Amino acid sequence: MDGLNKSIYDIGSDNAFSILARSNKLISEGKNVINLCIGQPDFPTPYNIIEAACKALKDGHHGYTSSNGLLELREAVSHDFKYRNDVNVDPNNILITPGGKAVIFYTLLMFGQPGVEIITPDPGFMAYKSMIDYTGSKAVYLPHRMENNFSFDADELLSLITEKTKLIIFNSPGNPTGGVVPEKEFEKLANGLAEYPDVFILSDEIYSRITFDGNYHKTLLSYPQIRDQVIVLDGWSKTYAMTGWRLGYGIFPEKIISYAEKLATNCHSCVNTSTQFAGIEALMGPQKSVDNMIKEFDLRKNFMVKELNLINNIECVAPGGAFYVFPRIRKDSYSSQHISNELLEKKFLATVPGSSFGQNGEGFLRVSYASNLENLKRSIKLIKDFMNE
Ligand code: PLP
Repeated sequence: MDGLNKSIYDIGSDNAFSILARSNKLISEGKNVINLCIGQPDFPTPYNIIEAACKALKDGHHGYTSSNGLLELREAVSHDFKYRNDVNVDPNNILITPGGKAVIFYTLLMFGQPGVEIITPDPGFMAYKSMIDYTGSKAVYLPHRMENNFSFDADELLSLITEKTKLIIFNSPGNPTGGVVPEKEFEKLANGLAEYPDVFILSDEIYSRITFDGNYHKTLLSYPQIRDQVIVLDGWSKTYAMTGWRLGYGIFPEKIISYAEKLATNCHSCVNTSTQFAGIEALMGPQKSVDNMIKEFDLRKNFMVKELNLINNIECVAPGGAFYVFPRIRKDSYSSQHISNELLEKKFLATVPGSSFGQNGEGFLRVSYASNLENLKRSIKLIKDFMNE
């Protein structure tokens, strides 16, 4: 079709949502589908958070807020960030967004253009690549390998920087692999990146609270040598089981926050007001439900890793965070797309092929364990049956 901005022809999409649509279709036809394809906690939003939103509506908070978000919410983010990371953040550098994804969108609108290179993880979250392509910039892929626990090599990354590089995207704990970048690698990287003061870094920390087995998240904002280059993305979707509320935030360096705010004003105006009140309660209220959710994810992760490794031709490293396992699966010469299709169409088990996340994801499957243990047990049996056929 002619007449559209030609960039729109290059925009990609999120395969997990297409697989979800197909699963729902199968369910509507009466099939008993187990859905391990979508990245959202299977827990309800904690009740105190729901109540805070209802109260805001009853109290008459029905209008727009400032487009960067309620000051009280930005102060709560700053307080939480300091508590978790021991890093001070000025609430004026925080932009409240309708989900973390909007931070990716706005950042890539700010940096992406033809002639620019953007370094991005491979395998990595699909929205990065889609938006890099949309802006006409060139994606340069940083491999995250299973042999390296799906972390990356700081020297390899630094070697990819050219004079065209304007932005580097990181995501730890990572989607789709659950990999956590160890502090020593980040330290090496921060020292190296300090040599490139004009290169910005988008650090996607949306899974920052969900780590296991002694792995921990260290925000890239903790490194003073690169502090003015770092944009942090985080939010409520994963930590507080609030994916459908659409609430996230970006912390932007002083020199670019005003541009991010203008994009927000022109696009979403502000995040819906009662959701912002819910966000305050989430950060300032009791955290027990978050701790319980992480404990439950940890148990399920242990179960999945152990059981997958017992199946012939499957290798699965224990992820350090998030709620995905990313096993390598070898069956005949099937592609990961073919394996995922077969699992869905014949076994009614929804997963995402690793190739959806980049070339280095070929041969792997992303399996979300944001589902109850009963479903996970059944899934293991279905995968076993499939592998033995
Ligand atoms: N970043 C990563 C790595 C994600 O996996 C997701 C969601 O799946 C997001 C960002 C977006 O989160 P939100 O639902 O808050 O937009």
